[in-house]
Parts: sequence; C-alpha cells; structure tokens
Amino acid sequence: MILAKLTFKEELCKGCGLCVNACPKKLLQLSRDRLNQKGHSPVEITEPEKCIGCAFCATMCPDCVITVEK
Ligand code: SF4
Ligand code: SF4
Repeated sequence: MILAKLTFKEELCKGCGLCVNACPKKLLQLSRDRLNQKGHSPVEITEPEKCIGCAFCATMCPDCVITVEK
C-alpha cells in the first residue's frame, strides 16, 4: 500500500544530502549514476512503498525540491 507520493524537482537539487539524513526510514539516496543539469547527483527514493509521508525530507530541503502528497 502506498501511503504517500513524493515528487522531486530534480533540476533544483544540489545533492547536499540533508534530506537523506532526515529520512527516518532511510529511503533516500543521492543518485550514483545520474547528474542533473547543474552537475549534481539528484536525490532519489529507493523504496517508495515504505514512505510514511512524514515530510521530514521536504521540510529539511533548503531548495524545496521535494513535495509530499498523502
Ligand atoms: S516523507 Fe518521510 S519517510 Fe518519506 S522519504 Fe520523506 S522523510 Fe522519508
Ligand atoms: S532534495 Fe534538497 S535536501 Fe535533498 S539533496 Fe537535494 S537539495 Fe539537498
């Protein structure tokens, strides 16, 4: 069951990793094989079905990259 849906404004991501550390479920990682147009490794979600929709990641992001919809 999917509890929440995350969307990423990937081109705004600067790969700082703040959201990665904020996720209590450890679901976020910086891409290992992709770069965005700014040359940063964008964040991605590994197991979307495990997301609890807490939005800690979205709150933490200084660039408003992440949107959480429940
Ligand atoms: S909403 Fe919560 S559980 Fe889901 S990816 Fe963000 S921090 Fe992790
Ligand atoms: S989504 Fe935001 S907090 Fe996460 S790595 Fe990208 S810029 Fe940093």
